[in-house]
Amino acid sequence: MLLDVVETLRDLVRLPSVNPMGYPVTGDIFLEERVTNYLQSVFEKLDVPWERSTTEPQRDNIVARIDGRTPPEKGGRVLMFEAHQDTVPIEGMTIDPFGAEIRDGKIYGRGSCDIKGGMAAMLAAFARLAEQRDKLDATVVMACPVGEEFGYTGAQLLARQWAEGSSRLMPKAPDAAIVAEPTLLNVVVSHKGCLRWRIHTRGRAAHSSQPLRGENAIFKMAPVLQALEVYQKEIAPFRAEHPLVGRPSLSVGIISGGISVNTVPAECFIEIDRRLLPDENPDEAFQHIADYLAERTDVVVHDPKRFVAPGLSNTNNGPLADRLLQVARHLGNPCEKIGVNYGTDAAAYGPVGVPVVVFGPGDIAQAHTADEWLAIDQLHKAADILFEFAKSF
Ligand SMILES: [Zn+2]
Repeated sequence: MLLDVVETLRDLVRLPSVNPMGYPVTGDIFLEERVTNYLQSVFEKLDVPWERSTTEPQRDNIVARIDGRTPPEKGGRVLMFEAHQDTVPIEGMTIDPFGAEIRDGKIYGRGSCDIKGGMAAMLAAFARLAEQRDKLDATVVMACPVGEEFGYTGAQLLARQWAEGSSRLMPKAPDAAIVAEPTLLNVVVSHKGCLRWRIHTRGRAAHSSQPLRGENAIFKMAPVLQALEVYQKEIAPFRAEHPLVGRPSLSVGIISGGISVNTVPAECFIEIDRRLLPDENPDEAFQHIADYLAERTDVVVHDPKRFVAPGLSNTNNGPLADRLLQVARHLGNPCEKIGVNYGTDAAAYGPVGVPVVVFGPGDIAQAHTADEWLAIDQLHKAADILFEFAKSF
């Protein structure tokens, strides 16, 4: 059975799979279950084995597999297509987020660009490969994890299953992986990582009519912020440089403190977002800032790191990227090998030794936008490239 790539994308857009982004929200647009069920029914129609793995209620990764001549259990090679099931929220959108309307050669809706378009292209290629399953050398896996937009939880579970040998269909890590994100059909070989944590200042509460009886935690944060502003401008960017993704960065994204205007605040915290170069060590990056602040400010308390996602390093994906570029160019696409600033699920696979690149239809400029859309010609081209690449893998 072949899949119509446009109709597959429209089906996916019409099935909301909004990521709650760490908030305790409820409602029928949230979580990935509708998309997972749809994918399961597609895999059943293609007559390929599938496997679901739960990260939390209503949030299952799903993988499916087409065996090559030698299955992985007997040492055969495995290529993984990977596309996440979730989308970002829909607040502020100016179009029907789940309408999947077609206008001027574009499909509109939340996730059309990031990354249900890439998922539809992979599914269409996967269906064509399933038609030719007798002729495939390598095994091809289609993996659709949950939770990419907040914490990479699904991808991390998948990588853990390879280490533990606890997946039925993926008894070991794949030999190569293509992670779908909107790259305009360019091949992304490196991207930045991210490190986040909170810094607290502690004071002592008092009535605000007698402020000197207390210790103001918000005032204590002021020199910390000034020091970090200097660090952001004069230190972080000059620590290192990467030829494809540029320089490291630091931002303070959240500040919170105090319980009422007539109380001297006993607590204040800020949250740091430090973008890492692909090969940068998160512990070292953290310690450098901790030491810097210790020399310049009163005592601050660092929480343990809340979020660490390594970058994508281009140390072992060169041959994979070259081969994908070759196929794409052969099909008439003038694409390039590039680096990007945003993070992806590839961060979970690269560190466990899987050669991985990021590739997909559409422009990241349209991802997460108020009128998110995907150009239909990109969708067709991506499906063709992925099919040709896997057929000869
Ligand atoms: Zn994405």
